[in-house]
Amino acid sequence: MSDAKTVAIVGAGPVGSLAALYFANDGWNVTLYDLRNDPRLERTPGSTASPGKSINLALSHRGIEGLKGASTRLSRMITNNVVPVYGRMIHDKKGRQESQAYDVHGQHINAVDRGWLNWALLDEADERPNVELKFGHRLLQCDFDARMVKFITKDGEVEVNVDLVVGADGAHSTVRSQLMRVAKVDFEQKYIDALWCEISIPPHVTEDGKEEYPLDPNHLHIWPRKTFMLMSLANIGDDKSFTGTLFMPQSNFDDITYPQDVLDFFNTYFPDVIPLIGEEYLVKQFFNNHKGSLVSIKCTPYHYLDRCVLIGDAAHAMVPFYGQGMNCGFEDVQQLFMHMKANNAVSSALENYTLVRRQDLFAISDLAMANYVEMRSSVTSKMYLARKHTEEF
Ligand code: FAD
Repeated sequence: MSDAKTVAIVGAGPVGSLAALYFANDGWNVTLYDLRNDPRLERTPGSTASPGKSINLALSHRGIEGLKGASTRLSRMITNNVVPVYGRMIHDKKGRQESQAYDVHGQHINAVDRGWLNWALLDEADERPNVELKFGHRLLQCDFDARMVKFITKDGEVEVNVDLVVGADGAHSTVRSQLMRVAKVDFEQKYIDALWCEISIPPHVTEDGKEEYPLDPNHLHIWPRKTFMLMSLANIGDDKSFTGTLFMPQSNFDDITYPQDVLDFFNTYFPDVIPLIGEEYLVKQFFNNHKGSLVSIKCTPYHYLDRCVLIGDAAHAMVPFYGQGMNCGFEDVQQLFMHMKANNAVSSALENYTLVRRQDLFAISDLAMANYVEMRSSVTSKMYLARKHTEEF
């Protein structure tokens, strides 16, 4: 379709790895760079769970369609390794649970291990003869007019000539900041007053030593408490654990100083969670686990001539409450190639990608923000109606 045949994809996260497959399928010579070491070096053979910190993600129809566009075999393999999630399970302060189905026809989202998904995409990319993976390469600079990108590695700086640069380097994208030097990019960034902290919920061990899920695995569990919330998804794999995520304003985290404060807090707001985790493990995780910030980023355009394009979080970091950040990134890649196929010139394809994609991305970003209120507060209103009482959640 074009004579621009070498592409440097910066960022081997889920979205950059998927983009490598699409470009490879289209006959480009692809090099996929990441500043990290190859994450597959950490994996346990035969396991579908990533070691250590494992955030599971909700993979939705939008994301699955993006995967299918690269490889139906890969997409089938991935969707065979998920836990289907058919609705929300709302937990009130007395530990009562209420199921809210997503759909009367049984449509569902899918809990998938983030690390494993990334490995699967990288494995697939590694099999393509026209894809080269380069880890330990941090992008420093792009000179789009000279078609040159510069990386720093442990052995020093490396300059590479390339036709197209794809920025898949996440929310704090270097490609985006380089793009903003040459294109008139409108840019908006907003941090919300919430941090996230993962709390693992171990499997329940039965009297005869068998491990079971501690909660119904086919629900997204939510403990909505108006200004903060806990939510949890089942992990796929043999260990039958859940990963919970506490979303809470910084000031609430700051108020919790001592182990007893953690237990008092959980006793007040999430009493049914303490026996599932155990006091000691809960306190340890609360203090030791990383507290991440949440940023929403909108920008436009996503491209510069036929030289650069942004996809995934680099184009549109969004708050995670709609579970669509990665899914939208997968859709970006699918949409980008729809435009590549419809346009002879790469520059027209990239221009149309910006023009068509931005409305959808701005809308879903706003929906994600609105869903924070829905998940931590509004979901309780149906329970109020059902029970006809005025108890606070
Ligand atoms: P990233 O995953 O951020 O990958 C970017 C890659 O670029 C990294 O590997 C990084 O090492 C590399 N990189 C960065 N800078 C450079 C550089 N200068 N040079 C070279 N490499 C570089 N999304 C969903 O769809 N469903 C969910 O359920 C969901 N849940 C979430 C829960 C939480 C708590 C959070 C925080 C996010 C969640 N998301 C979810 C969002 C999802 O994690 C992101 O949208 C997704 O990871 C974006 O993928 P990406 O490949 O664009 O970027």
